[in-house]
Amino acid sequence: MKTTTSFEKLGPIKLPLALKSGKVKDFNLFLYIFPKENYHVLTYGEISGNPNALVRIESACTYAHLYSSQLCDCEWQLKEALNKIEENGAGVFIYALDQHGRGVGLRNHILVYMQEQTKGFDTVDAHKSLGLDVDARHYDDVGEIIMDLKMDKKLRILTNNPRRLDFLTKNAFNPTRVPLETTLNKYNERELRTKKEKMGHLFSFK
Ligand SMILES: [Zn+2]
Repeated sequence: MKTTTSFEKLGPIKLPLALKSGKVKDFNLFLYIFPKENYHVLTYGEISGNPNALVRIESACTYAHLYSSQLCDCEWQLKEALNKIEENGAGVFIYALDQHGRGVGLRNHILVYMQEQTKGFDTVDAHKSLGLDVDARHYDDVGEIIMDLKMDKKLRILTNNPRRLDFLTKNAFNPTRVPLETTLNKYNERELRTKKEKMGHLFSFK
């Protein structure tokens, strides 16, 4: 993890969010501008030095987050994470605005879907057929954000993705995983099974 500051930070602004629970709660929103990528960081409650604070790192998925696509669990995860942070009383939601489709970008994200829908590939094979990393997301900037927020080393992270836990552990954090698992349905089943079976995501379904 880099130790020098390499970002511009704007905010906070107060953003009243309509949560799944039906409540509307004020979150603070910051925009972190790094040389290559931008992040929205939403905070709720007292987060600095709080070992009980929840953290969610969400990468952009326009299909789910803008249009409620059911082909993946991204919409459910975003809403559930914000809800859980409010219920918990403290937490941070970090949205990687430029890491579309596991970090491959908008153009490749639609190419992946085209491969899936015309050739019957799952996401992993679609990425490979296009010469893309299966998961191109990186967490260097996120590490800087977490340090900037002065979060406790024992943060609790809402994730099913072992790569995120590895990243934090390698950077001197001691994270506890809090699962963020939706139920399978006929739309998301293929994607979630691929995540579990080919990418090692930590789902409890069989
Ligand atoms: Zn998605």
